[in-house]
Amino acid sequence: MEDRNGKILTWFRPEMTPGDVDPGRMASPSPLKPGKLMAYLKKAGLIPFFQVVEDWNPLGREDLLLAHSPEYVDAFLDGKEPLCGSNWLTWTPGLADSVRYTNASLYQAIRYSLEHPETVALSPTSGFHHATPGAGSAYCTFSGQVIAALKLYREKGVSGAFLDLDAHLGNSIEHSRAFAPDLNLAVPIWANINPAGEGQPYLDDLQQKLEMLKGQILQKKIHYVVFCHGADSHENDPYGGQLSTEQWLEASRIVYGWVKEMDTARGAPLPLSLSLFGGYQHMNFVLALHASDLAICLETLCGAQTGFRPEERLPQGLA
Ligand SMILES: [Zn+2]
Repeated sequence: MEDRNGKILTWFRPEMTPGDVDPGRMASPSPLKPGKLMAYLKKAGLIPFFQVVEDWNPLGREDLLLAHSPEYVDAFLDGKEPLCGSNWLTWTPGLADSVRYTNASLYQAIRYSLEHPETVALSPTSGFHHATPGAGSAYCTFSGQVIAALKLYREKGVSGAFLDLDAHLGNSIEHSRAFAPDLNLAVPIWANINPAGEGQPYLDDLQQKLEMLKGQILQKKIHYVVFCHGADSHENDPYGGQLSTEQWLEASRIVYGWVKEMDTARGAPLPLSLSLFGGYQHMNFVLALHASDLAICLETLCGAQTGFRPEERLPQGLA
């Protein structure tokens, strides 16, 4: 099996980061993360390994309606309380605009991975997996995974699996199954994968779930995988904390090593896209975790020599 494309294609547009939010008043720093991650990758010397794709459009109201009620979509886009604040964030016009871009970024990245499986696709986004059909929740506005999976199922008849390694259960998929019944085909009931436990049992559970997923992929029941390595599963995070630094990095190595095995088992690259999800400790440490994950991806799957050493970038988390 040849290496994949040496660069990670990245669906980033500056509009994904709202320009009118006051970081001091935001309950979560995540809306600023797309722009901050790109700046971090540049500072860390990793940006040559990323190719930014900018010629794509934000989602429209009709796309958001795939996963949400008209009452909620209109209240959020128009800034009407109380629903526009149901994501626990301070509403601004820029935030309302930005989520149409972040949700589109995830859809575009997954779609590209299906059409060009030799390339890993990155959507540098978060703020999706707690949203429900009728409201936002816990820093999440719209159910990006649900919207993307439904669009791709309806366009291409494909089913996907989400490896959700954020600290918190990704409930938006489960809470949307009654709202959009064909979500059961777009993301089968066993394909919203959230490892359970802490420390080594968490990693063991991840391995078991990947083994299950391997069988489903080889039976062609799953056509693409989205890996969301939330940084809030790191032990220093105020809202999460299942894994030490070494274990958090090990989770990345387990997933990308498994993808490489899948490529060999299938005789063709597994369509893989990535998203960021949560992270609430010091922003630079959160960004260093995400960059470490991406460097492991580049070195494991893309044949890249990044020179980025996660263990040297994350000293305060190491014992
Ligand atoms: Zn989380």
